Amino acid sequence: MIQVLDTRWLGKEGVIAVFAVPHREGVALVESGPESAFPQVVRALSELGYELSDVTHLFLTHIHLDHAGAAWRFAEAGARVYVHPRGAPHLANPEKLIKSAERIYGDRMKELWGELRPLPQDRLFAVEDGERVEAGGLVFTPYATPGHAVHHHVWTVGESVFTGDVAGVRLLGGPALPPCPPPDIQLEDWRASIARLRALPADTLYLTHFGGYRDKEAMLEGLEARLSDWGDWVLRRLKEGKTPEEMVPLFEEKVKEELLAAGLDEAAVARYEAANPSAYSVYGLVRYWQKHHPEAL
Ligand SMILES: [Zn+2]
Repeated sequence: MIQVLDTRWLGKEGVIAVFAVPHREGVALVESGPESAFPQVVRALSELGYELSDVTHLFLTHIHLDHAGAAWRFAEAGARVYVHPRGAPHLANPEKLIKSAERIYGDRMKELWGELRPLPQDRLFAVEDGERVEAGGLVFTPYATPGHAVHHHVWTVGESVFTGDVAGVRLLGGPALPPCPPPDIQLEDWRASIARLRALPADTLYLTHFGGYRDKEAMLEGLEARLSDWGDWVLRRLKEGKTPEEMVPLFEEKVKEELLAAGLDEAAVARYEAANPSAYSVYGLVRYWQKHHPEAL
């Protein structure tokens, strides 16, 4: 019953998903996709027989623009939007969100992510950890899962869990890689969130990047090992006195080798780079060590 919609962001297939969950009064979405992909998501919904006005609820895992950029569009069409309390103020007033994204994406901002407008307050609901939301006979439950972002929830419905970015990025049957962009990366929190995912009774994992997977245990084990390995790798380079700029090409090469060793080809490596740029993970992990463990440097 859960439908994986491909946003085809920038014409790329299988990079950013939106999930549609039909219920007896319409359809709920998990993630909005980026605003630049909004027309494609509306098309995908209509192929399932839904109009925009049939979207009753939108559950967001976190407010990064690939997950929540089009939330205001769905809210303006009448959907109720549910998000972590630390994310809600930035959707109501996206000024800070735009500024911090502009710092990373510069003048490519609009082309990549489209437009961002304040989300109507009466459509916006901040939900706490464990606070159940009923939608047309289904129950959606958020679980606070920081580490990738402080404002991150996973959402469960029945046996399924929508993992946002905290279960990693996994494409074309390859391994799950942890996306580590600045500014929130916190490895201890992330490990605790992985433990929380393991303990949830939900066994099918829906990754925004990309799709549903049933091998939860093996996948989370691999993710956790890689998270530690990446963290250690950046720490060693910092201790050697390398700058982030010097680390980026080395880290890109390391990630490429890991993916090729897992049996993927160059095209798959490029798709992983599009979904989860290695350079951002260098900057995010450098910030983690400097902010949380200056004593280790
Ligand atoms: Zn994210």
